Amino acid sequence: MDFEPVIQTFEQMEQTSSRLALTDHLVTLLKKTPADMIGKVTYLIQGKLYPDYEGVEMGLAERMALRAIAISSGRSMAEIEAVYRETGDIGDTAGKVMVSKSQSTLFSEPMTVERVYSTFEKIAKTVGPGSQEMKLRLAASLLNDSTASEGRYIMKFVMGTLRLGIADYTVLDALALAFTGDKANRQALENAYNVSSDLGTVARLLATKGLAAVQSVQITLFKPVRPMLAERVSTAKEAMERMGDKAAVEYKLDGERVQIHKGKSRVELFSRRLEKITDHYPDVTKAAMSLACKEAIMEGEVVAINPQTEEYLPFQELMHRRRKHGIEEAMENYPVVINLFDILYLDGKSLTDLPYEDRRKLLAKTVKGKNGMVKIMPQATAAKPAEIDRFMASAIENGCEGVMVKMPSSTYRAGAREYLWVKLKREYRTELADTLDLVITGALHGRGRRVGKYGALLLAAYDPKEDVFRSVSKVGTGFTDEHLDQFYRELEKHVIHKKHARVDAGMEMDVWFEPVMVIEIIASEITLSPSHTAAKNAIREGFGLALRFPKFTGKIRDDKEAESATTTDEIATLYRRQLKVHSGAKADK
Ligand code: ATP
Repeated sequence: MDFEPVIQTFEQMEQTSSRLALTDHLVTLLKKTPADMIGKVTYLIQGKLYPDYEGVEMGLAERMALRAIAISSGRSMAEIEAVYRETGDIGDTAGKVMVSKSQSTLFSEPMTVERVYSTFEKIAKTVGPGSQEMKLRLAASLLNDSTASEGRYIMKFVMGTLRLGIADYTVLDALALAFTGDKANRQALENAYNVSSDLGTVARLLATKGLAAVQSVQITLFKPVRPMLAERVSTAKEAMERMGDKAAVEYKLDGERVQIHKGKSRVELFSRRLEKITDHYPDVTKAAMSLACKEAIMEGEVVAINPQTEEYLPFQELMHRRRKHGIEEAMENYPVVINLFDILYLDGKSLTDLPYEDRRKLLAKTVKGKNGMVKIMPQATAAKPAEIDRFMASAIENGCEGVMVKMPSSTYRAGAREYLWVKLKREYRTELADTLDLVITGALHGRGRRVGKYGALLLAAYDPKEDVFRSVSKVGTGFTDEHLDQFYRELEKHVIHKKHARVDAGMEMDVWFEPVMVIEIIASEITLSPSHTAAKNAIREGFGLALRFPKFTGKIRDDKEAESATTTDEIATLYRRQLKVHSGAKADK
């Protein structure tokens, strides 16, 4: 197939922004394309060589690209660089300096899509020492036999700056029109695209085997499925109304969505954007290998944790995992867990047509047993808004962003954002301006690097009316090794065999202390808590208050006795002030 008609279409598309006109241009091009080339042409239209999940990149350095243009145009690097400074785009630079060449190539063989595509493949696949030089030569050889406008697009493609302004959905429309004559068939194409994430293959199937073949496209291991998404609601009442009489309520963790593809002998991980991210989480990959199934596709949220307390940490902590080097060290310093929330495929069968509650049961079976960091997403069922609210409070206290509410009868709708899943997030986020001085009342033994020390401390605020210390937070972050040694030494004197009579706490600890030592804590905010006892019932019946993302500031307040610690009333006041700041901010909008 000649490259020329492709280029012409691209040029026309650059001139227009109307979606209808863009679709028309594409339809014309697709109709001109031989059936066996449809897949490749579809990828080229999208500015790629393969589907995204293959993670293939051209990898030609900018300087090398400029040199390729210099070599094939016979101009000096200085000249090319000057044009590049002016145009700001390597493709446009090629287009400009190659103008005079179009005459000479008029008499040579026309450039073909086959040659362009296979040279691109070679450029992408050339790796290792000396590969830049090799890539440069491949690019230059293509340019040598191209016209100026071909050269322009070739270099745009190679450098990833081809912007035709089309969404995948426009390509789907065009395919439906070109091969079935009816835009209504686009839904069948879209379904196939949603489960395969591979537009080129969908297009090739359609052109070579027809619509029925497209309709039979199934979920396939190692091809990522486009994720099902959630609509937003602002109250538990609205969430419940959307669900009907029953809802599955889950933690909404603030991490990274990961789709696990587990085969018999390998595991791959894909991001929400369908990129392969297996390298970011070798620990999750390894743990997934031991799940109780031969093959499965599952979804979950990876989240960073504090290994001592198993508290969830904010999303930012995952950034440390996005690296090529030093991943071993990052795994040690920034441990994660994955909480699985869905299963789409199991041992040869697609599960997407099953109701969510049935998928969840299968997921629970698959995750059963010890898989280290692979866990199942905490979930509750709710029939009333109050039950959603209650679960939401414990989710937030545990470091979540809010809850996901899902319809138990819903199938898995790949790529769709509908009210079958809704997200209910906490509405505000304020940094507590003040630090708090809290009393250490208990501790959990340390694990891993903290064996022989305390992993986390249970902290309490003082309630002067009843002269008791009521629990408000567990803290495991902000401690240096010296602190840990010091706490262990100093607290040893105060260890008691059961909870102190003046301590009011609803949770089990490994060690209890006399309430004497006061430390300074900073937190992101105060939240309602179903488990802590500070200011219980003061704000809402059945709830206490807790700290979200608490951290030791490094200051031991040995200048304060326990009775001078922050009081439960002060914490309730801070909570109310937070609400006021929030509603004030809302009123301003
Ligand atoms: P969206 O993914 O909806 O386009 P977004 O990227 O801003 O928007 P959020 O608004 O935070 O994401 O909400 C959806 C995301 O929440 C999911 O993609 C997933 O990463 C995450 N998530 C956390 N917990 C769950 C859960 N229990 N079920 C489904 N998704 C969850």
